[in-house]
Amino acid sequence: MAGSGIVEGKKLLITGVLTDASLAFNVARLAQEQGAEVVLTGAGRGIRLTERTARRLPDACDVLPLDVTSPDEISAVRDDLTQRWGRLDGLLHSIGFAPASCLGGNFLNAPWEDVSTAMHISAYSLAGLASPLAPLLAEAKGSVVGLTFDASVAWPFYDWMGVAKAAFESTARYLAKSLGPQGIRVNLVSAGPIRTMAAKSIPGFADFEEAWEARAPLGWDVHDSEPVARSTLALMSDWFGSTTGEILHVDGGYHAIGA
Ligand code: NAD
Repeated sequence: MAGSGIVEGKKLLITGVLTDASLAFNVARLAQEQGAEVVLTGAGRGIRLTERTARRLPDACDVLPLDVTSPDEISAVRDDLTQRWGRLDGLLHSIGFAPASCLGGNFLNAPWEDVSTAMHISAYSLAGLASPLAPLLAEAKGSVVGLTFDASVAWPFYDWMGVAKAAFESTARYLAKSLGPQGIRVNLVSAGPIRTMAAKSIPGFADFEEAWEARAPLGWDVHDSEPVARSTLALMSDWFGSTTGEILHVDGGYHAIGA
């Protein structure tokens, strides 16, 4: 029904769309179906793939270059959005990367250079992106949402990506504290395993998938990111207006169940 979407009229910046399996793709699709105006970002040479994937969305939308390790590209995105909208209702951070040495059981040998890359792209970037966009987010009393994989425990194979996620979760809390006085909310969705490009690069990921399907009380489908997308959009909507610094588990209930 026209005019009644959960994010009707909102202006959203959505990072992390690479393929149509990307968690961010379903967020962007649902956001458009629910009345939002969306701009995507793409990183490095992957931006061509992001542009191709964007054509599969219900409405055409622009794709801005954004590698989160480039201060110039972050500034250019801020300037574009200032011109384009003058405010930002929502920012989705759906970005993760760790060099191969940081994953797959090599925990004791990963060099700092690689660990620092994982930390920069997967953890620091939440602040690196939200801080320069804060004036636009403040204008709209906007919502920042990021995606994590439960960092309260050590997982097999996840290694330094798990450490980066722990830093990411802490970064979200400090951002919530720092940006709250401007009316900006910062929350994370802790998602169960979904088959995406990033997931396929984690050795042993199939073990997560089996464990999830067996233990999650609600069950879990690694091919269906719709529940993650819906909860993410809910956090961007006006229906979570007093929630910040929160980690919302969208994992079929796995986190609540002992082995
Ligand atoms: P994906 O591969 O589709 O998305 C990862 C994105 O990170 C890509 O769009 C890529 O372009 C982007 N990226 C990598 N380096 C970047 C950089 N330097 N600058 C800007 N962007 C960069 O995989 P996904 O699973 O959709 O991952 C999205 C987020 O969801 C990640 O934070 C991931 O850790 C998180 N997550 C995924 C799962 C899962 O099982 N797939 C579970 C929980 C959380």
